[in-house]
Amino acid sequence: MSANRRDFIKFVVAGAVTAGCPVDLSLVAQSGEASGVANVDGEDNRICHQVRDGRAFSRPPASAKHDVVIVGGGVSGLAAAYRLQHRDVLLLEKEPQWGGNAYAMEYDGSIYGTGSAFLWSDSEAFRFAKEIGLDPLPVNCPDGSIINGEFVPDTWGDGINKIPYPPITRDSFKKFKKEIMAIDVQKRGTSLYDIPFSNFTKLYAREIKEWWDAFGLSNWGATCDETAAGVAITEFQDVVDQSRADNRYTWPGGLGAITKKLADILQPTFGNRMQTGATIVAVTPSKDEVQVTYMLAGELKTVAAKTVIMATPKFITRRIVEGLPDKQSHAMQQIRYAPYCVVNLIYDKPVFNKGYDTWCPGNSFTDVVVADWVIRKKSGYKQKHNVLSCYTPLREEERGNLLTESGARKIAANVLRDFQRLTPETNTDPVEVHIYRRGHPIYMSTPGLYTQVQPIARQPMDRVFFANTDSQGPESTTNEAIVAARRAVRQVEARLAGKPAGKETAVLG
Ligand SMILES: Cc1cc2nc3c(=O)[nH]c(=O)nc-3n(C[C@H](O)[C@H](O)[C@H](O)COP(=O)(O)OP(=O)(O)OC[C@H]3O[C@@H](n4cnc5c(N)ncnc54)[C@H](O)[C@@H]3O)c2cc1C
Repeated sequence: MSANRRDFIKFVVAGAVTAGCPVDLSLVAQSGEASGVANVDGEDNRICHQVRDGRAFSRPPASAKHDVVIVGGGVSGLAAAYRLQHRDVLLLEKEPQWGGNAYAMEYDGSIYGTGSAFLWSDSEAFRFAKEIGLDPLPVNCPDGSIINGEFVPDTWGDGINKIPYPPITRDSFKKFKKEIMAIDVQKRGTSLYDIPFSNFTKLYAREIKEWWDAFGLSNWGATCDETAAGVAITEFQDVVDQSRADNRYTWPGGLGAITKKLADILQPTFGNRMQTGATIVAVTPSKDEVQVTYMLAGELKTVAAKTVIMATPKFITRRIVEGLPDKQSHAMQQIRYAPYCVVNLIYDKPVFNKGYDTWCPGNSFTDVVVADWVIRKKSGYKQKHNVLSCYTPLREEERGNLLTESGARKIAANVLRDFQRLTPETNTDPVEVHIYRRGHPIYMSTPGLYTQVQPIARQPMDRVFFANTDSQGPESTTNEAIVAARRAVRQVEARLAGKPAGKETAVLG
């Protein structure tokens, strides 16, 4: 596509790169264009910057007292609030909307995802979705790939015989499949979570590593060299099982449906005990209570709580919660997060409907999801817009590219270029391109994280408990966020009943 043609396409940038408060120092804008980041997002980061710079906020006396304050309104915080509806709970979220990384948006009636895409039917998230009144819809389409310009359906099932590589490379794919399927991850215990997956991929054709670099970056923010082998091997076994019976489910636009439903359920009863635009700047535990200080509409407020659930990611949590033991704070600091864009290509005619999630190794984006896949065959449904969500995880060192609107637009332009190159038959331009960028949305499943770091990071303090998907592992999923919420709720209930919270010792499971 020529630069001129691209000039006519509308690019819309959304999302908060500096969604964390206080923001990670690596994101700090020094000067020039980067300092305009808050304007691009429409997000007011002044408070965050002040916390980051070590400003001590004056803490007004507590104006109210609650049984539980939940910090963070992503799926984990919302699920915890749902489970604690019988309690006096205050739920606080920094952004103007609920949902965190499970958040869907809409273009002229067509819903599309900006993050979390699907869940598995054997997961707690699936059962939870049903409990809150959502009926998950089946994906029923094992993933294909676009390789050397050809769409290969069901890559790791029947497709493996048709991958357009020379026979020697195809044989290596088959050998990899046979040997990785034969590994008993449970039997090997934790050891597989402490070594990199590249210890395995290096034994096969380099194209296998390229495929897994894309898959790993998309799903857990890390290439084969930085992925815990146990995570990738378990995923691979699931991927192969998908071609026998796909057990993935979702809704149009992905798992933002869960957070939307939760917010809809909670809002009528919670009323103003459920606040967006509330940025927590300090959580100060003492013997008898925890003081939580936050900024809302330009004013600092403090509330007291008998217990607190921190449902924020750990790189933020460790800067807000005072008195964390050094070892726990250090564990939180060790968790690494990948920057991530989702680029939604919005077409006003059908362009690509070949598969639900199609892998595109070796390109600027890793995979493309058809936003309305699970409803497009329903009788009476007409696809008004073909919205294609291109998952575009970045390396940590590329995070700075998200800081400016021009940087984000450039990433989106590269995605569009690559998509059009991969699918020349489409020969049409999108009506709009939407870019949703996030600075630290997904933790990297690095060797040792699940076995050595997360068990320490989630240890309860006396009255402060830790939810969020990054407490749980081994992979950043909505399911882990919901599991972490259930654990934190159990700990809160025990503490409110006067029992000390037990130590978290289990590593696997
Ligand atoms: C592109 C992408 C694709 C994904 N695909 C899938 C998938 O297909 N399936 C799946 O299961 N998972 C997927 N995930 C992962 C999934 O989205 C996350 O694991 C899950 O949404 C995490 O929820 P959470 O509540 O633990 O954390 P978050 O969503 O990070 O929520 C934390 C909340 O805390 C708020 N917050 C932060 N600081 C403060 C503060 N100081 N004061 C108040 N509030 C604060 C944040 O704004 C945020 O809303 C994907 C993630 C991404 C980014």
